[in-house]
Amino acid sequence: MPTSQTDPGYDIAVVGAGPAGLAAATSAANSGARVALIDSGARVGGQYWRHRRGDDIRHQHRWKEFRRLRGNLDHRRALIDYLPEHFVWHVERTGSGFSTHATCGDAERVVDSRAVVVATGAYDRQLPFPGWTLPGVFTAGAVQGLLKGQGVLAGRRVGVAGTGPFLLAVAAGLAEAGATVVGVFEAGLPTGFARHPLAVLANPGKVAEGAGYLRILARHRVPCHPRTGVIAAHASPSGDSVHGVTVARLDRDWRPVPGTDRRIDCDTVAVGYGFVPQIEIPLQLGCDTRLDVDDSLVAVVDDRQRSTVPGVFIAGEACGVGGAVLSVLEGELAGLHAAHLTGAGVPDPARVRRLARRRAAQRSFATAMHQAFPVAAGWSSWLDDDTVICRCEEVPASAVTRAVDQLGATDPRAVKLFARPGMGLCQGRMCGFATAGLVADRLGRTVTAEDLRGMSSRPIAQPITLGTLAAGPRGGRVS
Ligand SMILES: Cc1cc2nc3c(=O)[nH]c(=O)nc-3n(C[C@H](O)[C@H](O)[C@H](O)COP(=O)(O)OP(=O)(O)OC[C@H]3O[C@@H](n4cnc5c(N)ncnc54)[C@H](O)[C@@H]3O)c2cc1C
Repeated sequence: MPTSQTDPGYDIAVVGAGPAGLAAATSAANSGARVALIDSGARVGGQYWRHRRGDDIRHQHRWKEFRRLRGNLDHRRALIDYLPEHFVWHVERTGSGFSTHATCGDAERVVDSRAVVVATGAYDRQLPFPGWTLPGVFTAGAVQGLLKGQGVLAGRRVGVAGTGPFLLAVAAGLAEAGATVVGVFEAGLPTGFARHPLAVLANPGKVAEGAGYLRILARHRVPCHPRTGVIAAHASPSGDSVHGVTVARLDRDWRPVPGTDRRIDCDTVAVGYGFVPQIEIPLQLGCDTRLDVDDSLVAVVDDRQRSTVPGVFIAGEACGVGGAVLSVLEGELAGLHAAHLTGAGVPDPARVRRLARRRAAQRSFATAMHQAFPVAAGWSSWLDDDTVICRCEEVPASAVTRAVDQLGATDPRAVKLFARPGMGLCQGRMCGFATAGLVADRLGRTVTAEDLRGMSSRPIAQPITLGTLAAGPRGGRVS
């Protein structure tokens, strides 16, 4: 490990070791760059390849590709320092490049580098409904993370609800692991893909993956209900867990069709409405962001995965939700171009063209998927006045609407100041999208990028104790 304090010994600091970060770190090192690969997890792989040591990989997808990337990492150990269980809370520009601040246990470490690749992924996008704060109501990703990461089934009788193909992956994983999946309740219409035949045909792998999940669900006799939503969850008699849900057919705006609601018993609910890119760090660095086709805020990048801040590259879900295959391609391109920028090898133009062509095909599929599974504004009609919007601060829907109607708030940031949604421990990760949607709905307009920026800017990207902050980089400056 280099020792000088002033010269940033690393060419590139890669934040995140999921599909995108792992691909970026290994392609950069293969070009001769010195890389610090920093991740909060105990193992590389991110969300898609979440696994345990000595894991039974039968339920993992694209494991061969993961082994290739992990093999590259092992092979390039002389050029890559892998820093697991490091939580990056802040990245700043310096005179000679960047300093990435991370906590590891109660120590702070600082990684100096010439360039940075941000590959921080995404997390589950949530929409509130009456009863969603009950024990037993999980995000779809959390249920899958428990299964993949801990081998733990979240429940025995599970309802899977929300929108998007990810629900199929979650339901199939649960059914294969022995849970009774009482149904997949898809608020949208999967036939929406039919409007994008070219994008579907250009991605046979995605179609095969989806068909695989449907085969598993058919084998386990799991019913799939399109245009149907979970609009409320109900407590057990003791009130300490979920006991059932109310589902209803939904119209194209996701408003419940009168007379169609019915009660289904279950002990667990897995809910997911797509993903929210983790873009705190690009926002800290002043990178431009934009509203993507799935109404999420993403970082702006060019065809070299360069952000609008020189020396900052972004890959994977942080620059647009598109799944693991796209993340690997963007990561590989970001690694090649970041290595080139920092004086390591010149990327092979033919390889760059091949990667860019495959990226375009994956990106077109992601766009088709987002357009086929949009979040319609009618979800707010599921809410009661006392339905909690912000779980951390226990802010009910009535407080958000009152901030708009009576206190004159005209954007989510003002509502945050008046009623505190997004001011708690998760800093709006859970409620940001819903709060912005509710406010825009109340004002009779659509959500803007500025609205989401107001709920996504976090100068401190990961919790850090005041003690660690005050002690400074006790863990030493890694450069
Ligand atoms: C819970 C969950 C489950 C998913 N399951 C699937 C699935 O089964 N199939 C599928 O196709 N897609 C799935 N996805 C979508 C997934 O986002 C992509 O498939 C893929 O993993 C994206 O790759 P990525 O490298 O961009 O991000 P990720 O895989 O999310 O990797 C990002 C990495 O960055 C790390 N990180 C983030 N912020 C920091 C920080 N501040 N400091 C240090 N480390 C940080 C994270 O710990 C993570 O390891 C899932 C997403 C989620 C949230």
